[in-house]
Parts: sequence; C-alpha cells; structure tokens
Amino acid sequence: MESLDMNLLDPWNTPFGLAPFDAISDADFAPTMDAALAQARSGMQAIATSSDAPSFENTIEAQEVAEEPLNQLAAAFYTLASTDSTPLREELQRDFAPKLSAYASAVTSNVALFARIEDLWSRRASLGLSPEQERVLMLTRRDFIRAGAKLTGAEAARMAEIKSRLASLGTSFMQNLLADERDWTLPLQTDDLAGLPDFVLQAAKAAGQEKGLDGPVVTLSRSLIVPFLEFSDRRDLRETAYKAWAARGANGGETDNREIVRETLQLRQEQAALLGYKSFAEFKLETQMAKTPARVRDLLMQVWHPAKARAEADGAILTQMMAEDGLNGPLMAWDWRYYAQKRRRADHDLDEAELKPYLQLDQMIAAAFDCAQRLFGLTFQELSLPLHHKDARVWEVCRNGAHVALFIGDYFARSGKRSGAWCSALQSQRKRPSPRAPIVINVCNFAKPSGGAPALLSFDDARTLFHEFGHALHQMLSDVSYSAVSGTSVARDFVELPSQLYEHWLEVPEVLQKFAIHAQTGAAMPDDLLKRMLGAATFDMGFQTVEYIASALVDLSFHETAAPQDPMLQQAEVLADIGMPAAIGMRHATPQFAHVFAGDGYSSGYYSYMWSEVMDADAFASFEEAGGPFDLERARALQDNILSRGGSADAQELYVAFRGKLPDATALLHNRGL
Ligand SMILES: [Zn+2]
Repeated sequence: MESLDMNLLDPWNTPFGLAPFDAISDADFAPTMDAALAQARSGMQAIATSSDAPSFENTIEAQEVAEEPLNQLAAAFYTLASTDSTPLREELQRDFAPKLSAYASAVTSNVALFARIEDLWSRRASLGLSPEQERVLMLTRRDFIRAGAKLTGAEAARMAEIKSRLASLGTSFMQNLLADERDWTLPLQTDDLAGLPDFVLQAAKAAGQEKGLDGPVVTLSRSLIVPFLEFSDRRDLRETAYKAWAARGANGGETDNREIVRETLQLRQEQAALLGYKSFAEFKLETQMAKTPARVRDLLMQVWHPAKARAEADGAILTQMMAEDGLNGPLMAWDWRYYAQKRRRADHDLDEAELKPYLQLDQMIAAAFDCAQRLFGLTFQELSLPLHHKDARVWEVCRNGAHVALFIGDYFARSGKRSGAWCSALQSQRKRPSPRAPIVINVCNFAKPSGGAPALLSFDDARTLFHEFGHALHQMLSDVSYSAVSGTSVARDFVELPSQLYEHWLEVPEVLQKFAIHAQTGAAMPDDLLKRMLGAATFDMGFQTVEYIASALVDLSFHETAAPQDPMLQQAEVLADIGMPAAIGMRHATPQFAHVFAGDGYSSGYYSYMWSEVMDADAFASFEEAGGPFDLERARALQDNILSRGGSADAQELYVAFRGKLPDATALLHNRGL
C-alpha cells in the first residue's frame, strides 16, 4: 500500500469528517496511536501548567480539544476491531488497552490539572456558567474523583495498576469469546436437516460459505443458532449445539474466561475499597437513576415472581407436548425453544417461517426511517462513501434540507464481528468549542443471505433493528453544547429508554401494513397474520423475563459483596436461591457475559434494560393516551426533553419534564403480559 499522504492526527479533510477508512491501513494504527497519545499528554500538561487563571474555556473546553485527535483515531480503530477483527487487529487491541488506560490514569492523577478543576468548582457560582456548563464541570470533577484524583502515593499508583490490568482483562475476555464463537461449527448432512424451514437452511448455507466450507453449518451466532434450536427435529443435534453455545468462554485451555472473571471481580472490589465504597455495586450505582443495589433488587424481584410463575406454567405445557412426542421429561434447555415454537404455531397459528418473508431487512430499515420522518421530520438519503466494511451502508440524515447527521448501518453477521448488536458514534454532536454533527453507527448480526436473495429478518431481529435505531436517534437528535453530555452520554439505566421506546413503533399496525411486504410476491402482510403476530407479542415472555432477570441478579450479586473465590459457584448459588427453572439458561452465563466483563460498561448495570423498560412502557402509554403513536405534541415533547438533551440535565428531571410524573412498573408488567 502507498504511504499515507494524510496526517491522521490532523482534522480529517473528508466528506462530513468521516474517518478515511480507504486510506488507513492496519500498519498505520500503532505508530499513529502512540503519536496521538503523546500529543494528548502534552496538550493536557499544557492545560495543567498554564500560567493563566483557570477558566471554563482554558480548563474544561481545552481538554476536549487536546484529546480530539486521540478520540477520532480510537473511534475509527475500535469500529474496525469490533466489526471486522483479525489477528493483527486483536494484537493491536491488546497493545492499546494498557496504553489508553495508563493515559487516562495519568490525566485523572494529574494534581495540577485537578487543582484547576477544584478551583473552578469552588468559584462556580461567580463564573457566569450556563446550567449545562455547570453540569459539565460537576461531571468532570466527579469523574476525576471517581477515577482516584484524591488518592496519593502508593494508593494512586495501585489504582493506576488496577485500571490497566482491568483494561487488559476486558480485552482478553472479549477476544476469548470471539475465538470460541469463531472456532465452532456444526456441519449439517442431508439427514440432519429435519424440521428446518428454508430460511434457516439458507442462513446455514451462507454461514458455511462465509467459513469457506462446502455445505450448511450451524454457528454460534445468535441469529442462526436460535432458529436452529427452535426448528430442528433432531434432539441430539439441538443438544450438541446448545451445549456448545452455553460453553462459550468455559471450554478450558487458552480461551477460558473463568479465571479472568475471578480476577476482574477481585480488582473491582479493591478499586471500590480504595475509593471509600463498601462495594463495587455501591460505587457504580451512585451515578445511576437507581442509586442503590436495594432499589435495583426491589424492581427485579417485583418482576421475578410473576415471571417465574408464568415460566413454570409454560414449562409444564411444553413437557406435556414432549411426552406426546414419546419423550419422557425432564424438559431440557435445548428443548424449550423447540416446543415453544411448536406451541406458538398451535396456539397462535403462527409460524416463524410464514412470517419471515414479510420481514425484509431493507423494508424494516425503511420502516425505521419512515417513523423517524413522521415523528421528527428526518429524511434519509443513501450515499456512497468509503466505510469500514463493504457490507456497511451510509445515509445522510437531514431536516428541512439541513444536514443533521450521518447514519451508518452494518447489519450482517461475519466472523470477526462481536456478537450482539450495538450503537456507537464515530463522532458525537456538540456546538463548542467548534460545532460538529454526529456520525452514528448501528451494528447488528443478522444472517446474510446467499446469492442475491433479499435478507429476511425474524420479528426479534426487526425489533433489534428498531432498538439500535432508537439509540441512533438519541445521538442524531442531540442538541447540546458539549460532547461530554451529548447523545447517549447519560446514566446507564436511562440510556435504554430511547432505544426500547422506539421498539414500540415496530408494533404499530399501520407501520407493518406499509412495510411488511412479501419478498417474492410484494403483497402486504395479510391482516389476519398481522393480528396473530401482534397477538403473540407476549408469547413465551415468562421464559424471556426469567433468562434476563437471572443474568441481572448474578451480575448484581457479583458486585454487591466481597469478590467470590469461585464465581461459577456463586452463580450456581444465586440461581438456586431464586429457584431458577432447570430448563431455562441464563441469557448470558458468566463466562460469556460481555456486558459485564468485556469492560465495565454494564457491570452492576445489566438491570438497566428493565429499569429503562419501566419508563419506555410508561412513555409509549403517554402517546397512546394522547393522539396515538404519531401524536406530534408527544413527539415534540420527547425530542425537546429527552432526545435532544443527552446528559445535559439529571435523568429523572428530564423524564418528569417529558411525562409530568415518574412511572411505576404497572405498564411494564402489563406489556409483558405478566
Ligand atoms: Zn440498547
């Protein structure tokens, strides 16, 4: 490759400031990252040692400027590393994790820099700050203190050591999980295909092709293994596949995550103790809406009891169905989805295979865009720009002809892509120090069709697409001054509100009537099928709620008390305590719980989805109580009080401004049919 005639640390002179993916080679990253870190360090040092009296501009805004090249480079690199990993990129990640952590520690332990922040804080009333500036100052100071800025000597050094080690452990956890997912396939011979509808077979063929194999294979990608478990008549193969899926990260050998989990929990506990907290959960929850572990547990247990009762009743019915097949129980984890799917066909006359042709990826993207147009006046124009992968697509988002954002969608599963789905920003919105429009990316893992066939989704996949697009709207509609509080930079247990709220529009009949179009015939989904599909929306909700809450409770217990010597034993104890139904696995068992162990984003925070759901159920009810799903006054209130505000005000305050009151769990229990 030609040498780069562009300095990656300069502002990118590309359309919309998008990372120049066509011009960056992997070989550029290591030297450029080192240079970016050095530049950020000297920029921060210049702020710390400035002879000018501290001001908001020269101390807080200036930090954003000093870190800008580093942030833009890191955003580009981690987009590549998480969506299209290679051994070289994995090596770079392992190299960068401790370096970035050391940099962050150096910043928060810079005594002169923290002294300037403290000085501003003590004079805040007389500085003439806007409410947003005062909040950014408060958050910056709080971040410094929580990172250990008040520690000195050996304690400060130990804190830096812990954080660096945690960063490396998080990277290894993710890479091990990826390796286990990448390395396992189950080739399917002709007589292994019993029960599989065509869409599963096609997905299995495409997965085989992608792996360079001849025939169809099952992989551990959720969008392939779940339908396989739902449809395969071959109980022996379901068992093999399920066990491999459940064993990710716990296969012994080099990719085993269990020791990483143990050490991670121990270090987190030590970190919390150094900062003066009783537990890591107390430390983490301090900045969340929930505030305390007790309030989290209250909510989870309030939903657990009805959910478990529902799951047990459902399990009895499924066991009976299995007996009718001549199989005497007990119902096993690899049987649940299979018999649940059969029951869905019988009770709701609803077959995933019948639905699927109506849920085309392109139509579901169009549906998500159309709702955003009706609610918020956004329009979407597809562009041709060099992106991080050839399967990714990009749209310019405008309102009244003015540029709002770039939106990138990277929808198909591939080996080298992290599992799950997520939204991140290559660039987040801000007005100061200089204005910047957001560049937002949604990443999913939908099965890629083979040949030129249209990509088809399950209803769950379509819901995931709407979910991630809700996060994207939070970023794209952000209208704040500082990127520190822009878009999804909010409390973790508030961040799922816009995403889960947006899922509700997928269930609006007029949306499906318009966009659920048969892939071959072009016919709209028949009303009767639409009714049956929406009628089945709470189907198997006992199972789904149980598998989720079990994971949330294990996460909470890990961080609430002293770190366990044997996390797997503690997991077993928590499940025994709550009486976990034997035929239901945790949604994420500990060795594959990336939310909690590939970084600490959702540690003591997996409950957040349910906390946010209390609000999204209540928020959507407010549309229904007003003029309906497309009520423009409600849409305006949502945009003005929540979507545009990011973290520029307290989450609870924002919600009350939108709704007039705080919600309780009633609407949630109702929506889940519990
Ligand atoms: Zn989300």
